[in-house]
Amino acid sequence: MSQYDYDLLVIGAGSGGVRASRTAARLGARVAVVEERYLGGTCVNVGCVPKKLLVYASHYAETFQVAPGFGWHLGATRFDWSELLANKDREIARLNEVYRGLLQNTGVTLFEARARVLGPNRVAVGDREITAERILIAVGGWPWKPDIPGIDLAITSNEAFYLNELPASIVIVGGGYIAVEFAGIFNGLGVDTHLCYRGDLFLRGFDKDVRDHAASELRKKGITLHFNTEICSIAEEPGGGYRIQTDVNEEWCAGLVMYATGRQPMIDDLGLEHTAVQITEAGTIAVDEFMQTHEPSIYALGDVTGPVALTPVALAQGQALAQNLYGGDDIKLSYKNIPAAVFSQPTIATVGLTEEEARASYERIDIYKSSFGPMQYSLSAIGERALIKLVVDRDTDRVLGCHMVGPDAGEIVQGLAVALTAGATKADFDRTIGIHPTLAEEFVTLRQVAE
Ligand code: NDP
Repeated sequence: MSQYDYDLLVIGAGSGGVRASRTAARLGARVAVVEERYLGGTCVNVGCVPKKLLVYASHYAETFQVAPGFGWHLGATRFDWSELLANKDREIARLNEVYRGLLQNTGVTLFEARARVLGPNRVAVGDREITAERILIAVGGWPWKPDIPGIDLAITSNEAFYLNELPASIVIVGGGYIAVEFAGIFNGLGVDTHLCYRGDLFLRGFDKDVRDHAASELRKKGITLHFNTEICSIAEEPGGGYRIQTDVNEEWCAGLVMYATGRQPMIDDLGLEHTAVQITEAGTIAVDEFMQTHEPSIYALGDVTGPVALTPVALAQGQALAQNLYGGDDIKLSYKNIPAAVFSQPTIATVGLTEEEARASYERIDIYKSSFGPMQYSLSAIGERALIKLVVDRDTDRVLGCHMVGPDAGEIVQGLAVALTAGATKADFDRTIGIHPTLAEEFVTLRQVAE
């Protein structure tokens, strides 16, 4: 008999924690999970899933606009925000129960309580103490806001999913995934939407052509982009709404202010000071390539470790960790060619190197790109343009990066990620037959190197 209550105690029932628990239990480990908030973590409750539902909802405005071109004439349409939220909440409650079932069915014990680490093998769970041979910290992140006067008046994405009503106007601060996605959501739902970013051009880290193209498309959709602008203070207006002071000496009024300025690991008061676990300068838990912390019995994965805060990465980490610890495997994850999508309108999706990254590491780079009007808008006045781009190493012919802005970009680039992972060359793309007529076929018909 083991001297511990469990072989593995997982703190956090989000994507990574649940995947690690289920896999470990299936491999014969005695596993418990402790979760104090909601099953499924950020992704299911206040992230990917509800966000995508809101993105779908906001797209209908454009669908209705396109419909007459195809001969469809709708009667008066009406949008009901509370109905959407109620349906969204029902779907999330269903998913919470799916997660509960997944844990139950694999024999994982669930404690719905707060966990606090007491030592390398001891955790306080609510008012009891539990011992485990190994502890996995998968507590995720939480929105972070800079400290400026009136910042408490601003919401984050967490609250955006539960607004009682839609504002007439909103200022969204930030230029990353969440800011750009929510700008599309609010704009599509008829809110006068302003995005305020401190730098020259949002979506830092994405390909420059993609960033330019996205900025132009978002503007066309009616979103006002304020670059090189920071907010100095926020104050309540007597008649409702907020007055916002910027560092470019402008004063704005808005019905709501939302900050999407990044997320921070949720490690406060987790008791890590009772262990040898170390924290990086970025505030994340330091781990090696096998997700082990400086305390040998404690592991960590997902957003709490950064730097790639994406659900599929946490899932892959959870799977690999459990297989390594209980399945005799020796998996070292590769963080190369991780595909990602920003569910903006139009969607951005990308895998591999940007042109700028490729030029910094390779001598001779060829760029192939094309911009065109998607067929689905050809019978309407919607002037949306798609962009596709390939970054190729001329010396080896390897495709180093694929980038797209346009309808279904996430669906399309997922397939291309397989090709890049397999080491596809431009010649492989060229000898692939297209599916006609699609947007995706453009990726296999690019022949002209861009100037
Ligand atoms: P990001 O890190 O993507 O973006 C944060 C933004 O806030 C950046 O534009 C940053 O500017 C800006 N910022 C940071 N500090 C300040 C400040 N003090 N004042 C003004 N602006 C500031 O964070 P998000 O919150 O958008 O998302 C968090 C993470 O969640 C993402 O990185 C991603 O990993 C994940 N996510 C993934 C999604 C997906 O897969 N579709 C969707 C949503 C989130 P600068 O660039 O200048 O640093």
